[in-house]
Amino acid sequence: MPEGDTVYLAATRLNGALAGQTLTRTDFRVPRFATVDLSGRRVLEVVARGKHLLFRIQDGVTLHTHFMMDGVWQLYRPGQRWRAPAFQARAVLETMPWVAVGFRLAVTEVIETTGEHEVVGHLGPDLLGSDWDPDEALRRLEAQGDRLLGDALLDQTVMAGLGNVYKCEVCFLRGLDPRLPVAGIPDLEGIVGLSKRLIELNRTTGSQVTTGDLRRGRGQWVYARAGRPCRRCGTPIRRRQEGAERVTYWCPRCQPRQEAGH
Ligand SMILES: [Zn+2]
Repeated sequence: MPEGDTVYLAATRLNGALAGQTLTRTDFRVPRFATVDLSGRRVLEVVARGKHLLFRIQDGVTLHTHFMMDGVWQLYRPGQRWRAPAFQARAVLETMPWVAVGFRLAVTEVIETTGEHEVVGHLGPDLLGSDWDPDEALRRLEAQGDRLLGDALLDQTVMAGLGNVYKCEVCFLRGLDPRLPVAGIPDLEGIVGLSKRLIELNRTTGSQVTTGDLRRGRGQWVYARAGRPCRRCGTPIRRRQEGAERVTYWCPRCQPRQEAGH
């Protein structure tokens, strides 16, 4: 599951390549939109909303896509060979200078721009949005009550943008077991602030570095480090799988499972 900074970076690249360009050919390889042809229309802008991408196109049309697990948008020059198999392509947007191809997209739909709120309106404050609202994010996090912290951080209706990497890293850096109920955690404001700082730091790279160390394999405290020594205390990092998407990594010593206030 890509993190919000990855999606933000994709939007920045796609916007730089496509904004202002006229579509010369479009191809939506999903049954519902297979006959839609947006050629002749200009791309106005490409924006990220949490993990959603919105391609705003002339005449009030928006292409809405979502990556889910391993989707990706790639940019090619016309005629250039694609780096992924054609059968995995879900959307192709051709312009004179660039061809944008979305592979393995979980959601590909063409909607009215005025209806965008129906697909992204449920999202909480966007950590990388120009309208980021920390007070509203805190209010929504506080409202999670007995829900487990790790689940609340992944919930895009609380804050939009965090994925599994940041979930694990934020919990480590705050010294909190991801299984603690939100209601028992004293400094939720610190969690919101840290989430914003971390994702902001990686905004232009999409690399999810939380340690400040850019070297390969050094970028995270706990994520994907099961069995290896904690960078802080040396205790082996633990891993727990919760369904297909939710793998949690934590240090049992740095993130003790305190009794939550009773
Ligand atoms: Zn530790």
